[in-house]
Amino acid sequence: MKRVQDKVALVTGGGSGLGEASAMMLAAEGARVVLADIDEAAAKRVLRRIKAAGGQGAALQMDVSQEADWIRVMASIQRRYKGLHITLNSAGINRGYSDPRETEFKDWKAVMSVNLDGVFLGTKHSMRLMAQSTPVNGSIINISSIMGLIGHPGIGAYNASKGGVRLYTKSVALSCAEKGLKIRVNSIHPGFIDTPLLRESMGRMRDPELAQKTYDALQPVGHLGQPQDIAYGVLYLASDESRFMTGAELVIDGGYTAR
Ligand code: NAP
Repeated sequence: MKRVQDKVALVTGGGSGLGEASAMMLAAEGARVVLADIDEAAAKRVLRRIKAAGGQGAALQMDVSQEADWIRVMASIQRRYKGLHITLNSAGINRGYSDPRETEFKDWKAVMSVNLDGVFLGTKHSMRLMAQSTPVNGSIINISSIMGLIGHPGIGAYNASKGGVRLYTKSVALSCAEKGLKIRVNSIHPGFIDTPLLRESMGRMRDPELAQKTYDALQPVGHLGQPQDIAYGVLYLASDESRFMTGAELVIDGGYTAR
């Protein structure tokens, strides 16, 4: 028996990075995976990889910050699979570094709308469909960050959005438990993981070799994490193995926040 056999999973940001690696792993472990990404071509590319490996799923274009998109995506999942068991809210953005005095309000709002509004909408609409599924057995996994646990200069909007994801997750987990709704809600807090998002930050340093060395040296374990390192955590939270876990924060960071 595979670890998420026959479950239906939705992965936002499924076209790249942590979403892609997690979607591949969920599909390999038996889930039917709906990839939702603002970049439809990227979602379709990952779907081809899933199918080539013998898995099943679908690819949909969506902007997680738009409620109309969530309504459309949930209706499509309901039509196609008649229910939903796993949502991984992975879509997220950063807008680079800025002095708080210079940060543009539009950049603050852009980060909040994807990273925090997107998680709010994804949690709300996933709960609604999960609650109609038979049997009700849901797991919502929100990708926060170690930057939702500790502060870092120059990324105030990102810090605030990821801190918001952490506490929103706990609040909804308690609401579900209080109502006896069998939906678990947890957050994952990745450290520095080698994805296009991180490479974009590293790219701002002029010397790529120096950038790699600098980022590796920041990690207590001496190197960056890989997307699969996060996907294993996602798989655990998605599966029934974590049935007693809700409102929790899973830190996967090579020891970064242990100092
Ligand atoms: P990534 O490789 O850039 O993947 C994110 C995906 O989300 C991309 O395909 C992106 O499309 C898509 N996306 C962006 N805005 C969207 C929107 N409004 N609606 C739907 N999809 C959207 O980044 P990643 O590193 O995998 O990051 C995934 C999550 O992990 C994010 O929430 C990030 O904050 C978090 N995280 C990452 C790290 C790390 O070190 N990588 C560490 C901690 C937390 P485009 O490429 O077209 O923008």
